[in-house]
Amino acid sequence: MKSSEPTVVRLTKELININTENPPGREVEAARYMRSYLKGLGIRSEIIEFAPGRANIVAGIGKGEGIMLNGHIDTVPFPSNRLGNLASVKAGRIYGRGAADMKGAVASILASLEGIDTENFRRRLLLVFVADEESKFKGSTYLLSKRKRLFKGVKYGIIAEPSGLKIRLGQKGILGVKVGFTGKMAHGSSPWLGDNAIYKAASFVQEIGKAREAVEVDKREEKDTIAVTRINGGVAGNVIPDYCEVHIDKRVAQGSKTAAAFEQIKKIAKRHDNDARIEIKVAREPYKIDPNSKLVKWLIGLTKAETYYARTYTEAELYGRIAGIECVVYGPGESRWSHDPNESVSIANLKRATETYRSIIKRWCL
Ligand SMILES: [Zn+2]
Repeated sequence: MKSSEPTVVRLTKELININTENPPGREVEAARYMRSYLKGLGIRSEIIEFAPGRANIVAGIGKGEGIMLNGHIDTVPFPSNRLGNLASVKAGRIYGRGAADMKGAVASILASLEGIDTENFRRRLLLVFVADEESKFKGSTYLLSKRKRLFKGVKYGIIAEPSGLKIRLGQKGILGVKVGFTGKMAHGSSPWLGDNAIYKAASFVQEIGKAREAVEVDKREEKDTIAVTRINGGVAGNVIPDYCEVHIDKRVAQGSKTAAAFEQIKKIAKRHDNDARIEIKVAREPYKIDPNSKLVKWLIGLTKAETYYARTYTEAELYGRIAGIECVVYGPGESRWSHDPNESVSIANLKRATETYRSIIKRWCL
């Protein structure tokens, strides 16, 4: 019996039912499923397995200037009770790990190709589905370094991460820093013989707690933020500690630079311990697309959706910075359900995203 279920619903459920929780990822089985679906539409794709079980799947259709539709196929781990392991449908929503972030979006991209004559595209469509977005961005990093040619001539990109069908124009940068405070170890009964690293770390933490700045993003107010996220120090309850480390999570708003933020953290750390060891763990600049980009205008015209800037990182930054692709984020998932133990996606959103992707493909390629 043939099901009357819309393709996007079927694909979302089937992708959810293929476990790609990361770690370990194991995206290859989902990639194979996607390849066979694409093959059914007459679209040739390539699975790029960059490590055992870790796979991207890409398809380039047509020639000339390109537009990329992009999504990741891994998910965050299942909740500890293992519920949400299999997809279920209730009250117009699909539940299951990856529903919102972002198998529903991947399914929308796949479903949008149904019924499109891909034989005679006048411009190129690049489909990129990647592994490991939820951890170290290994899938995209691999493609952008080892398979650069894929992206040649690609002008625009839509990253289908959850945006609740709004148009996300930009995102903050991240600076992760580890500061190691040092001192001299001594017996706990004779603190004056040592130099306690925890006191230095503690006064540094106090000062960071008071730090606040404000910067402007276009016409919206957006602020840099700073947070102490981890602290580690001491060796035993009766020993004066000679080392204590503090981790800082700094989010850098549009117009700010991670280098300047780093200098500022360093200056504060040195005030509390001139010998502090300061190490950058991660540094990514803020990213935004030109709000006057043709892609943004198209999307606004098609969807009438509002635009916004987000706090969280997406791979739009990687594709923008490394491949020079003008990227927006536009997807059916709602970010409040990302990583949630009861993750779900609205079927109405899936259908609308499918239609929007289809309109973009038609306008660009036909
Ligand atoms: Zn995601």
